[in-house]
Amino acid sequence: MWLLPPIPALDGPRALARAVLGLAYPALCLGCDRRLSVSIRDDGIPLCPSCQRTLPRATDAVVAERLAPLPAAQGVFGRTVALWVFDSGGTVQRLQHALKYRNRPALGRAYGRLLGQALTHAHPHAVYDLVLPIPLSRVRHLERGYNQSHQLAHGLAEAFTPEPPVRDDLLLRTRPTRSQTALSRDRRWTNVADAFAVTDPEAVRDCRVLLVDDVLTTGATLTAAALPLRDAGATVDLAVFAVAAV
Ligand SMILES: [Zn+2]
Repeated sequence: MWLLPPIPALDGPRALARAVLGLAYPALCLGCDRRLSVSIRDDGIPLCPSCQRTLPRATDAVVAERLAPLPAAQGVFGRTVALWVFDSGGTVQRLQHALKYRNRPALGRAYGRLLGQALTHAHPHAVYDLVLPIPLSRVRHLERGYNQSHQLAHGLAEAFTPEPPVRDDLLLRTRPTRSQTALSRDRRWTNVADAFAVTDPEAVRDCRVLLVDDVLTTGATLTAAALPLRDAGATVDLAVFAVAAV
C-alpha cells in the first residue's frame, strides 16, 4: 500500500512549502531507506529514530585508542568528543558522504548541533573562545566549493552560551598535501606534519580552542593542526563527527 506521510500542522508559508516539497521529494532515512516524516526532517538529520538509536556511538576511549599509536598526538588534546564510530559501507559512512559530497550546508549544521549536544552533555561546563574547522587545501576547496568542517563548526558553536566565534582564517595550510586515504599510518603523519600554521598567534594565546573535523582516522591531520595552536599558547580540544573503528 502507498502510504502518504502525515499531514503536518501548517503554521505558515514555510511549513506549507516544506510540506509541498516533502511530498514532491520525500526525504529517506539514510540507514533504512524508510520515508521520513516532515516533523522528523525538521531537525535536519536524515535518520529515522530507530536508526539514530542503533548507530554505533563513539566513546572517549575509542578516540584515545585511535590516537595512541601516533607519538606526536600524545598530550596534545584536552577534551575529545566524537559522535559515531565510522562503519565502512554502513550508515555512518553514508551520512558522512552526504555531508562531504552533496553541497548541503544545513546538513553540516545539523550534525554539528548533535555533536555539540554530545560535548555539552559530557562536559556541561565547557566554554570555548574559538571554534576552528580544519581548513581544506585550496585545490580541494575549489573542487568542492565548501568546507564540510566549517558547517560542522557552526552547528557546534550553537551548543554553547555564549556562542564562540567560528574562525576559518586562523589556521592555514602552508603546503600542499596528498589525500590521506591511500597512505599508511606513518606516511599519513609525514604527509601532514608541519603542514599547518597559525596566522595570528596573539589571537589564540591563552584561548580554549575547539578543533573540528568530519572524520578522525589516525588523527594525523588533527594533530598537525593542533600543534601550532598549542605552540601559540592555546588549549586544544577536539570534536569529530565520526571516528574510524580501531
Ligand atoms: Zn532508518
